[in-house]
Amino acid sequence: MSDNPPIEFAFPELRKWENGAAPYIHVIESGQPGPTVMVTALTHGNEVSGAIVVDALLEKRLKPRNGTLVFAFNNIEAYHSFDPRTPFKSRMIDEDFNRTWGRLDRPATTVETRRAQVVKPFIERADLLLDLHSMHDDGVPLMLAGPLAKGVALAKKVGAPVDIIADAGHAAGMRMRDYGGFGDPSSPKNALLIETGQHWRASSVTVAKDVTARFLAETGIVEPGDLPLGWRQPSPPAQRVVEVTHAVATKRGNFMPVRHFEGQEIIAKAGTVLGHDDGEPVTTPYDNCVLVMPSTNRPLRGGVTVVRLGRLV
Ligand SMILES: [Zn+2]
Repeated sequence: MSDNPPIEFAFPELRKWENGAAPYIHVIESGQPGPTVMVTALTHGNEVSGAIVVDALLEKRLKPRNGTLVFAFNNIEAYHSFDPRTPFKSRMIDEDFNRTWGRLDRPATTVETRRAQVVKPFIERADLLLDLHSMHDDGVPLMLAGPLAKGVALAKKVGAPVDIIADAGHAAGMRMRDYGGFGDPSSPKNALLIETGQHWRASSVTVAKDVTARFLAETGIVEPGDLPLGWRQPSPPAQRVVEVTHAVATKRGNFMPVRHFEGQEIIAKAGTVLGHDDGEPVTTPYDNCVLVMPSTNRPLRGGVTVVRLGRLV
């Protein structure tokens, strides 16, 4: 991936959505009993495919037939900082919004913790959450279902994309999708995080539309016919679940991969060398090891995850 990858779609003007139940958060009540369903975009400010979807559904005035629908543009301040000369910078302002959720009981000291405090009551109210993300590098879409069986079950009901990743998140801090009841096996609350593909590919918008349409129909608060025509794509013949077992971090940012990795490739033999970190070989721990979201193809800071390793389950 070059420093300035192509941007294949226009970014939506979102300032018109500032006034809501809270800034850039909109609550649409049906007046009928039912679940509270939340769809969030711009958890990372440069992940625009999700913003296109939420903007379109607000523009369409989509109304739930029962329950409540909540839309949020999470890191809107980072989105508004976008500069095409440094497109990756607008992921965040001060810190990663999606690593703050384990410490929101502490005083907010950053743009992102202040914003998370605003978003939190809506997340606490939500029974079902879809958080729309995209990826730095080109790669197939991935549904991050979290560590619990209920997340994988919901991802299978949504029915796309092909790859469901069962993962425990990040040592660097709790994600929004793992917060509160979403991370509690005894709670009926459930959340999914979709990585739609590379941030600015037109195909990522297609995936975001498809997955959002499927998710909203699955919650039962809308009918499939309420959603925009053409959003839903044909279902893949099958899905597969990859359980993440290891996250490989680079010690000091000196990881050298042995070759370019695309992501989701399956390495047949245990002990296969993936690369070297500070000269030490990094190898696959078991046969048929799946490489999940490799970020091995660009320079990284020390402590950053270079690849997750998983097995098909
Ligand atoms: Zn993201």
